[in-house]
Amino acid sequence: MVEEERQPRILVVEDEEAIAEGLAFNLERKLYEVEIVPDGHQALERVEQERFDLIVLDVRLPGIDGFEVCGRLRRDGNLTPILMLTARSQPDDVIFGLKSGADDYVVKPFNLAELLARVEVLLRRQRWTGSVVGEDEDSARWSFGDYWVDFGSWQAKTRDGVRELSRKEVAVMKIFAEKPNQVISRRQLLVHVWDLPNHPNTRVVDNVIVALRKAFEENAWRPRHIHSVRGVGYRFVP
Ligand code: CA
Repeated sequence: MVEEERQPRILVVEDEEAIAEGLAFNLERKLYEVEIVPDGHQALERVEQERFDLIVLDVRLPGIDGFEVCGRLRRDGNLTPILMLTARSQPDDVIFGLKSGADDYVVKPFNLAELLARVEVLLRRQRWTGSVVGEDEDSARWSFGDYWVDFGSWQAKTRDGVRELSRKEVAVMKIFAEKPNQVISRRQLLVHVWDLPNHPNTRVVDNVIVALRKAFEENAWRPRHIHSVRGVGYRFVP
């Protein structure tokens, strides 16, 4: 079974409990999955452990502040969209925030409808970064055999017709697209797709491979594209 992971995950970093709870409540009503952390250290820790689709980041936090959190993430190459909550009394916050790598900001005390709209825009804008594979640059569509995967829309032509893949499925296919004919270890997939370098159990990887074979292989026991490399991982043959 592959979990359906299309529900966007949002990390709210805010030390003022009432604001954090109110935000979480309203974001959850929009069917987002929300997690709250009260300071910068915990924010960095969570982002290292898991992939979020968006971070709502308060600037004034105990310990390391929002600018520093944002700056560190960007220096580490983490491009998760960040919506900053800045203080009205500190107009320079906006400049610092954008310079430290935030994608957008909302001034506190914020208007809830405006914040929700900005969240929506950032989530929609989020695209697969990195190189575009395939010839059709606009759609980022990558073809192999009788099938294709569109890394922009997550749509794919599968044995059951055109349908949307899960986020993990798309991420694994992207790695295959970038490294055709190369052996890719389960560990590599855990690091790049799941952000779990020390995960003791590679079954999550195997589950996604099973799903991808169902989508793209006529005969999962004699795969044409997604080959197993015994004891190591997989090799994708376009
Ligand atoms: Ca605060």
